Amino acid sequence: MLSEFDLIKQYFVQDYPENPRFPLGIGDDCALLQPHPNRQMAISSDMLVSGRHFFPDADPTMLGHKCLAVNLSDLAAMAAKPLAFTLALSLPEANRAWLSAFSAGLLNLAREHDCRLIGGDTTKGPLTICITIFGELPPASALRRDAAQVGDDIWISGNLGDARLALAAYNNEVSLSAAAHQQAAIRMHQPTPRIALGIALRGIAHAALDISDGLMGDLGHILNASQVGACLHVDRLPAGPVLGLENQALRREFTLAGGDDYELCFTAPVSQRAAVLAAGVASQTELTRVGRIEQASGLRLIDESGAAIVLDLKSFDHFTSP
Ligand code: ADP
Ligand code: MG
Repeated sequence: MLSEFDLIKQYFVQDYPENPRFPLGIGDDCALLQPHPNRQMAISSDMLVSGRHFFPDADPTMLGHKCLAVNLSDLAAMAAKPLAFTLALSLPEANRAWLSAFSAGLLNLAREHDCRLIGGDTTKGPLTICITIFGELPPASALRRDAAQVGDDIWISGNLGDARLALAAYNNEVSLSAAAHQQAAIRMHQPTPRIALGIALRGIAHAALDISDGLMGDLGHILNASQVGACLHVDRLPAGPVLGLENQALRREFTLAGGDDYELCFTAPVSQRAAVLAAGVASQTELTRVGRIEQASGLRLIDESGAAIVLDLKSFDHFTSP
């Protein structure tokens, strides 16, 4: 039998090199973190609940990766550099195979981003994973939702909709070949946090967020916070490679209101187009310009000819969505 403390020691305590930024890690009542005198701290939490955010039998390695990736994605959207995180875990049982795979997926991604696990909490209960992440950035360099300006271009990183398409195939809403489903499912299970892009956009972009609940709703948060409107070229939205082979109606629906994309949507002045493209090259991230911030409130969807498109799409909401 694995005790609570053996479990923490065996699967989560890491042997990190000495660093004055981290005077104390796992083991005491609190971890200690030495703040940098000239940096702001960016802090975010995300909770993933079994049966709500992932299937109860989800692959534990991919789950470990995903629950940290969604938190890193929030730092990316703010242009913060990852520093450390805590992990609150509720587990139905102490299953060694599950814990070993979960911690490997989690800690591999953490190492990739030089982000330390400094503490957490472990309890028995329905499978729930809550991570709080800490990042840092120079003062006044955060990419906030309330900073879009009229005339800004709207940009999207990477591509959209394959994660939603994979979910639709799991739910038998669409049919995909096994190979296509597998390719799309990687986007659902293994999102890539756009950390390098976020940092490269400091001083260039105005507003940013990461797309987790569907572009239309998430862009709406920028528009509301910045008290502006926008026009979006629906057929310029970069569809994922698998979604790109589907019909226009599905492409439109899943790029606009998919969910689980974890790409960045950001606005930047027209005068910064070359700098934005250079940030994309430097961070090896594809970027697509998809619209414009406008004075008139609301989001206007247009096709290639400039004609208005009316689509009845809803963003995901935990309390109002089915
Ligand atoms: P407390 O009783 O003060 O809540 P715990 O006994 O829960 O402390 O935890 C002991 C130590 O292990 C603490 O430093 C805590 O941060 C750490 N810890 C607990 N669970 C985890 C976890 N899942 N991942 C990382 N650290 C953890
Ligand atoms: Mg505790």
